[in-house]
Amino acid sequence: MPLTGLFSLRNVHIRSWVMSEQGAYMIHNLRHEYLKAMGVQRWVARDRGDGVTEECLPGQASAGVEPVVQDWLALEAQVSSCNKCQLHESRTQTVFGTGNRDADWLIIGEAPGAEEDRQGEPFVGRAGKLLTEMLFAAGFQRADVYIANILKCRPPANRDPSPDEVACCHAYLRQQIALIQPQVILAVGRVAAHKLLQTDSQLGRLRGKVHHYGDTNIPVIVTYHPAYLLRSPLEKRKVWSDLQFAKAVNKQQVAVND
Ligand code: URA
Repeated sequence: MPLTGLFSLRNVHIRSWVMSEQGAYMIHNLRHEYLKAMGVQRWVARDRGDGVTEECLPGQASAGVEPVVQDWLALEAQVSSCNKCQLHESRTQTVFGTGNRDADWLIIGEAPGAEEDRQGEPFVGRAGKLLTEMLFAAGFQRADVYIANILKCRPPANRDPSPDEVACCHAYLRQQIALIQPQVILAVGRVAAHKLLQTDSQLGRLRGKVHHYGDTNIPVIVTYHPAYLLRSPLEKRKVWSDLQFAKAVNKQQVAVND
């Protein structure tokens, strides 16, 4: 199948519950073919028998294999009922992600805070408002991009995500990335950069370089978290230059993909 045909398929929302069994089977196979043609290996999580699926083991997040790509509706339903880690006990609700599912830019933060947990949307608190302003200054409305987090649930008292929480949640983010196929991922803050790039290098050293997500050719650009900018407003100029850098990389990526 030509690649252009494959990409036009990617945002088709498949409502499997209204399909005949045969129809659902055909779609399943089509999706499989779609992944195969992209060189993506199909991965199904196995249950170890102790209630922990293998995808939750720290280290699986970097395995470089893709989970089965689902449609958005199924993925959203799976996330909203997720109880793979302990965060489901303290959350008000899951925070799936928001924005344009066909976006060129995917913005990835750390985890929902108190306001996000209350509203069910990422980056809607003080830091979120600053992120919206940053994007606006770079020429984007919030609705132009897709915004998500490493974790879908709020860690109590906004502590750092634990390795097992990240491992449990990463399959969801990977599926969102596979569905969106962004031209650029903007990792905001240390936690997002470290988890996406599987590194513990200083954030300052990760800025200004083109990284790639896993074994894909999707560029990842690293910048400071808006919560940090609230504390250190003088660093805003660095974020401005990171956004200009991301725009240049995006332009190049579009040229390569055309
Ligand atoms: N900080 C994040 O990293 N994500 C949010 O959604 C809100 C604050």
